[in-house]
Amino acid sequence: METRRYSHFISNQERKGSSYQVIVRKSPATGEPVAEYADGTREDAETAITAARNAFDKGSWPTLSGIERGNLLLALAARLREEKERLAQIECAEVGKPIKFARGDVEGAIALTTYAAGLAAQVHGDAYANLGPQKHGFILREPVGVVGLIVPWNFPLLILSQKLPFALAAGCTAVVKPSELTSGSALELARLCREVGIPEGVVNVVTGYGKNVGEAIVSHPSVDFVSFTGSTAVGRNVIRNSADTIKRVSVELGGKAANIIFPDADIRDAVDGALFGIFFNNGECCCSATRLLVHEEIAPRFEQALAEATANIKLDLPARDGTDVGPLIHQNHLEKVLGFVESGKREGATLLIGGRRAAARDLEQGWFVEPTIFSEVKPAMSIFRQEIFGPVLSVSRFRSDEEAITLANDTEYGLVNALWTKNVDTALTVSKALRSGTVWVNTVIDGSPQLPFGGYKASGFGREMGNAGLEEFTQVKSVLFHSGKRSLSILKDVPS
Ligand code: NAD
Repeated sequence: METRRYSHFISNQERKGSSYQVIVRKSPATGEPVAEYADGTREDAETAITAARNAFDKGSWPTLSGIERGNLLLALAARLREEKERLAQIECAEVGKPIKFARGDVEGAIALTTYAAGLAAQVHGDAYANLGPQKHGFILREPVGVVGLIVPWNFPLLILSQKLPFALAAGCTAVVKPSELTSGSALELARLCREVGIPEGVVNVVTGYGKNVGEAIVSHPSVDFVSFTGSTAVGRNVIRNSADTIKRVSVELGGKAANIIFPDADIRDAVDGALFGIFFNNGECCCSATRLLVHEEIAPRFEQALAEATANIKLDLPARDGTDVGPLIHQNHLEKVLGFVESGKREGATLLIGGRRAAARDLEQGWFVEPTIFSEVKPAMSIFRQEIFGPVLSVSRFRSDEEAITLANDTEYGLVNALWTKNVDTALTVSKALRSGTVWVNTVIDGSPQLPFGGYKASGFGREMGNAGLEEFTQVKSVLFHSGKRSLSILKDVPS
């Protein structure tokens, strides 16, 4: 692939940034340049915000009928389908995700856009006819206005598709800030929006760093709502910086999911789920099932099966069809993940497999870490507590359902958890006791556009997807009508 060169996308035009500086993205697998993005400034962000504000306040988009907005989103889904392979190649090159998973991400984006298209016609309020003989109450659900959509690097197209089609379905206009590491697919998506006829100023993309573009969006008084996905540390900043303008925010943050294996689980399924749960997307997933909790009765054979299966996982260049695990996003992240491996060893966990940077000849230019498993992990250890965001699994043992629940909930995060059992009582009781926005039973890293997704605790607040995901982009107005003659409350004598 040739290096793709992008500008900002503002008012349906490609615009050079005010700084004329560029960010060069190099392949995390080979070190070769794959893309160049404009290094956006506060001024660029302001230009895009003004475009989105004008499109919302003066343009047709917010008042277009839901069916018309839905039709444009369906056309967008169709174009995404036609561009599937090209978009998957871009995600693979910029993120380093295995091509088979990149294709799955584009499928996910198509499904989300199709679902949001259907919701566009469904946005509705409520009415009260029981307020008394002369009062009639209407509750209107209106688009929230100009929205800032800030996304991370691990699922650039998929996470943007959890936000943008829903915002558009609701009638909002948007300024998108992709990650400075993986901005290509957001700009490609914006071009497709223009192609299908979404009016100018409705979708704008400004690339660059969080400190410049991200903060400008969060603190700007003309932005009504910010939907942020990223780390908990930056999420805290976003919440703080939104305070001065009393801006609504939703924050989808980090995770430290437990994956609980009860003794009556289907072991083959559970082993597959344990491996998929940690190695999918190179372990760089907010919902990676990073803490495996196994009942002590089955733990020795389960751990052995895990290690044997892990030896067959293909760590390779992400563009190759058979690759299961690709490189990490950049060098600092590789060093951070290897630092966690060292802390696991130092703090007394047992390294079952992996733990090193890949040594193979054709991988040495990239940021590849072997699929890694630790057993005998205790709750006080850093690898149990902190988000590693790499292919490193921690295995701990439990003796009872209560202990499994306590261990699973022993984290500041609360994004997702998973459990494997054939016992319906265990499944129901444990699902209810887990403090997370999603619980998977006999599956993991799974979902559908209908199901809302979001965090408990330090994993954030707000929901994406489902009807709840659309409602995030709306606000509610009460309109109270009075009919007939008013019974006077102040005036004693009224001229007729
Ligand atoms: P990050 O927090 O570093 O960056 C996320 C986005 O915020 C990027 O676009 C970045 O440029 C921008 N940003 C940085 N500083 C900013 C600031 N001060 N103001 C506004 N924007 C700013 O996260 P990342 O490294 O890109 O992604 C990995 C993290 O994202 C992990 O912690 C992961 O768990 C989390 N994540 C969460 C979810 C979820 O749905 N909960 C999904 C994916 C990733």
